[in-house]
Amino acid sequence: MGTTVGGRGATLMRVFSLVSFTRAVVTLVVATASAAWAGAGEDWVSEPPITYVLDYGSKHLGHPEWLDETAEAPPTLLHLGKDVPMTHNWGPIEALGGENQAYGKGDYIRRLSPQEVAGRIGGLKAMVAQLHQRGVTMVMPYICSMTVAGHHQTRTGLWELYDHWSDYSAFGLGPQPELDVTDWLQRGPDGGMVRFYRYSGDAYPAYAPNHRYAACANNPGWQHWLYSVTRLAASCGYDGVFVDNGSSQRCYCRFCRAQFRQFLMARCNSTQLDRLFGLRQPAEITLGQKGDGLLYTETLRFWLETVHKHQAAIAQAGKAVNPQFRVFPNGGHGRPENVKLAFRDSDYVMFEKSVGDYGTHPGLARLKIVGDVAVSKYNDNVYEYKLTVAAGGKPRSLVLTRAGYPRRDPDLELNHWTAYLGMAEAAAFGSGGGFLIRPQYSTFGPALTMCRGFFESHADLYSGYRPQALVSVLHFPEQKLYGNTEHLSVVKRLTRALLDEHVLFEYLMEEEVPAPGSESRRLVVAPGLEYLSRQQLRALEDYVRAGGNLVVVDPTPRADLMGQALRSDLLEPADGQVAGVGDGKVLRLARVPLAGIASRLSQMLGRSVRTLGTADGPAPRWIRANAWRRHTPGPHALVYHILNYATPLGVTATPPELQQGLELRVSAELMDGASAQAFTPERAQAVQLQVATTDGMATVKLPPFRVYTVVTVDSI
Ligand SMILES: [Zn+2]
Repeated sequence: MGTTVGGRGATLMRVFSLVSFTRAVVTLVVATASAAWAGAGEDWVSEPPITYVLDYGSKHLGHPEWLDETAEAPPTLLHLGKDVPMTHNWGPIEALGGENQAYGKGDYIRRLSPQEVAGRIGGLKAMVAQLHQRGVTMVMPYICSMTVAGHHQTRTGLWELYDHWSDYSAFGLGPQPELDVTDWLQRGPDGGMVRFYRYSGDAYPAYAPNHRYAACANNPGWQHWLYSVTRLAASCGYDGVFVDNGSSQRCYCRFCRAQFRQFLMARCNSTQLDRLFGLRQPAEITLGQKGDGLLYTETLRFWLETVHKHQAAIAQAGKAVNPQFRVFPNGGHGRPENVKLAFRDSDYVMFEKSVGDYGTHPGLARLKIVGDVAVSKYNDNVYEYKLTVAAGGKPRSLVLTRAGYPRRDPDLELNHWTAYLGMAEAAAFGSGGGFLIRPQYSTFGPALTMCRGFFESHADLYSGYRPQALVSVLHFPEQKLYGNTEHLSVVKRLTRALLDEHVLFEYLMEEEVPAPGSESRRLVVAPGLEYLSRQQLRALEDYVRAGGNLVVVDPTPRADLMGQALRSDLLEPADGQVAGVGDGKVLRLARVPLAGIASRLSQMLGRSVRTLGTADGPAPRWIRANAWRRHTPGPHALVYHILNYATPLGVTATPPELQQGLELRVSAELMDGASAQAFTPERAQAVQLQVATTDGMATVKLPPFRVYTVVTVDSI
């Protein structure tokens, strides 16, 4: 790239050494960030979960036996491979199914004639119609936001299609783009091609002798092609598309350079450009690189906005055919900034959780160490579901988990019971989302059918609620744009600690620092927030002074969003100390405690924060709970979801034990004059529950269950 005035180091110093910024500058940068965010508006309410199967098989079209198998336990959403008229990466080819890497060689990539494409469209239309008829609500095939396949010198793959463009005019591709495919690709700061995947030798192994390239989402040629691919898929009756590599955009091409200039000029006037970035005039604006301080933050923000517009345009291309068309990008895992900013108008977002010490499937992983000694670990996906709820709920979570990666361990595989746990977890903690089940209907069909039946016949357990929590965890995805990668780890550790000790919590994002005296938010935790705007810090100070309780977990805020040092009473206490600030209290923790967080918080609040227990003491840590309160008119004022994570993983695992003797404990005022009932997919009938009240706490004894139960509270 061209360097900023004074070079990168000088810009960084200038940004971080300014003595003071006007309030107007701070307001501008922060306000623009929040304006781009949909947020959990007052009209956001929860939706029922869905069931979800991913099937990348290649033998769907022309295989009625596959339709019969799928119809045995049809999911709400069926996600297929490249079962499309024209693939995004190669164009119209012989192979069907698979994702980017599959079927990338030999006869598989033979280009189809226009007559063959017409035949394929007819076949796909019939196939999708059949799936709908036989109970699948939504069917979505696979595309990718950036992959181009072929060879830019030998002109194979997408180049070959480009050279025969007019042969396919019957399919509404429009005129051949002026730019050659080679000019659709992402470029690095030095002008070289950007590649996201490792090579061995001089070809991409799955495509050899061809290459895999990354196209730019701001390139008009690529846009024209990808939106045509999407429109063709919609014309087959599909309800949306899965968009892989949903956020792989790191481009410095001429289109990105021009658009970044517009982007930054819309956010700063010329005085601010000079003060913040050392840029004397707009023509000097260039995309930043790592180490460029605030300029790189703005560059990352620009790429996120590029992805946001790209996803919206893909959806729009489908909506031209089917107004209900949906878009389902991959790229949520480990990237909360994508969920909040890039995918804020997407319908679903995939969290591809491949790697974990004990695989990533939900449930009990037991690994033998030596002899009879074994380690027990309880895997969950609570973070992902709660994240999308906090982001305003427009993108709904769909979670992919594995039994290890790349090697799969049979003792970590899903079975009937853990598949049920996975779907119940999506129902309990998410809104409108789901858990990925593989198309092995003989193993998972009964759980799919049971869960879908329960979700659809008990939609009132899931529709029209908002989170009910005692603790609000400040989870600010934009910390990452400022270089704070520790925040996410601290949030995840805190999530686990609160779940283990049955403390109900929610996440709040940047724009939702609680107002002073807010009733429902009784305790706020600020975990690892190294950067706060001065407004956010002031809002937190006001909240505490008005009587709020705040827990600050290291690393503590050290600078504002312009890099200026922050000072505050809130940051004064030493590790483990509680300090009074105004009418409120602040507890400082150097780290998330491995155990005992509930007692710390209970002490601070002067009442127990644990929602579950037994007659003898705390409930076991493998039991986890989430709660929702009614927001729009409907049955049930409160709903508590309780799950048993001691559901063993593994192909030969035994069923989970019946969980008995558990008690739900809530503030008596929530239960005053109320009736409670328990529901579970494991039992046909609801059970009326007894409510006992002592010392301001109401206790409800839970009937036995194996994996999942829901307790409703209705005002009489
Ligand atoms: Zn570009």
